[in-house]
Amino acid sequence: MITVKSLQLGFGNSSGSGGGYQQVLHDVDFTVAEGEAFGLVGESGSGKSTVLRCLAGLYSHWRGDIAIRGEALGRRLTRERCRLVQMVFQDPYGSLHPRHTVGAALLEPLTIHRMDRPHERVAQMLAKVGLNESFRQRYPHQLSGGQRQRVAIARALILEPRILLLDEPTSALDVSVQAEILNLLAELRAREGLTYILVTHDLGVVVHLCDRLAVMQQGRIVDTLPTSELGNGGVAYTRTLVEATRS
Ligand code: ADP
Ligand code: MG
Repeated sequence: MITVKSLQLGFGNSSGSGGGYQQVLHDVDFTVAEGEAFGLVGESGSGKSTVLRCLAGLYSHWRGDIAIRGEALGRRLTRERCRLVQMVFQDPYGSLHPRHTVGAALLEPLTIHRMDRPHERVAQMLAKVGLNESFRQRYPHQLSGGQRQRVAIARALILEPRILLLDEPTSALDVSVQAEILNLLAELRAREGLTYILVTHDLGVVVHLCDRLAVMQQGRIVDTLPTSELGNGGVAYTRTLVEATRS
């Protein structure tokens, strides 16, 4: 479904004097099968979000190969790709406009992509994420954190993508709400047959949601393993992360 080969990315000016250039991704390789939930973990600054942003088409200056469903990813966002791959951010405000109602936020992508039966689709999507019709009229500031993340997930799914990129989707939420959103994501994946790539610093989230994971350290993948082996397998660095979570 997704193949990433020798993905490299840096920021800053590589020419000229005085440095300032930082290589953030060094030859990142991984593959994700259709319907799989793949976790990308590692400490803050290891490059996890940068990998997702490359896949989402938010950067264009990466090197290497990215293929989605066997098709090489170009540098430019195509309409088809926008439909196929969607992203959910840690802060739901990242994808919600403060002066747009929930209804408007969900209608917008449908209008842009000229989808039929838009109002019916909005109603169905709200139901799927566990929000009733009354939420259509509300603005983002009139929602709880969990409700806001439900709306952001609904907006990401409204065009029926096949791949959902999740960047710390529960990290900004209260612990009780975290579990609710993780359950919703698990349920949506099972029901819609979605492929997930989930970035988190929280191994608990990976255990809850992912089949397999890769561990990143300083812009490199240092380990790839099934989630079931987290407790007893993995390289030394992976075991250090597991130990840090336990203590
Ligand atoms: P993570 O998500 O694992 O916490 P990121 O992918 O956000 O890490 O960042 C990895 C590194 O890349 C960090 O050192 C960060 O400062 C740097 N970085 C990320 N985005 C940019 C950017 N747009 N410009 C310059 N440096 C960036
Ligand atoms: Mg990040």
